[in-house]
Amino acid sequence: MIAIESLAHTYPTGQQIHFADATFTDNENWLILGDSGSGKSTLLNIMTGLLSPTSGKVILNQTDLYKLGNKLDRFRAQYMGIVFQKPYFIQSLTVSENLKLTQSLAGLKTNNHRILEVLEGLALADKKTSYTKDLSVGQLQRLSIARAILNRPAIIFADEPTASLDDRNTERVLELLINQAGKEKADLIVATHDKRVKDAITNIYQV
Ligand code: ADP
Ligand code: MG
Repeated sequence: MIAIESLAHTYPTGQQIHFADATFTDNENWLILGDSGSGKSTLLNIMTGLLSPTSGKVILNQTDLYKLGNKLDRFRAQYMGIVFQKPYFIQSLTVSENLKLTQSLAGLKTNNHRILEVLEGLALADKKTSYTKDLSVGQLQRLSIARAILNRPAIIFADEPTASLDDRNTERVLELLINQAGKEKADLIVATHDKRVKDAITNIYQV
């Protein structure tokens, strides 16, 4: 369960955004909808602890995110999986080394069995010793999903995961996100302005 209360953000430019209160309960899939520039990424960044709100709170289960102080990064690595709009990986590391890093950031020991399991689920097992610069766009997107679910997070966030994809790949990526979240019993929160995504997920939070 993740709840937002009285959230607002003011950028240094003076741009002000207020967010309606909401509770995203367990085992649910949610869409964060809104036009381009409405504040979807801002909300996701606040909910993942990457951008401190000017006011308001984010509560994940019993934990007030912005009271964690220097424990916030570890907390995020343990409980949240994030699929960013643009996949970024460490180019000088292989696929499996990148995933080991994801485990270590969460304070977990390397678990090669889990890495292989996740890569197999996303049809990437044969790429485990490849460098990420040698992957196709579609493979990088699947690897982003792999990384997001690796540590069995309570919540998976995805920011415009289908923005640059054709219809067929949009359907595939959504299916993967929904299936993987279901398998790990994680909430799924997808921010998008992509109308094609609307049919796949029922709960809607409008920005
Ligand atoms: P969305 O993801 O819905 O397209 P954003 O959350 O990225 O919207 O942006 C919401 C508003 O905040 C926009 O008007 C944008 O220009 C502004 N904004 C976003 N990031 C910054 C920033 N770092 N500095 C100043 N303004 C920003
Ligand atoms: Mg955005």
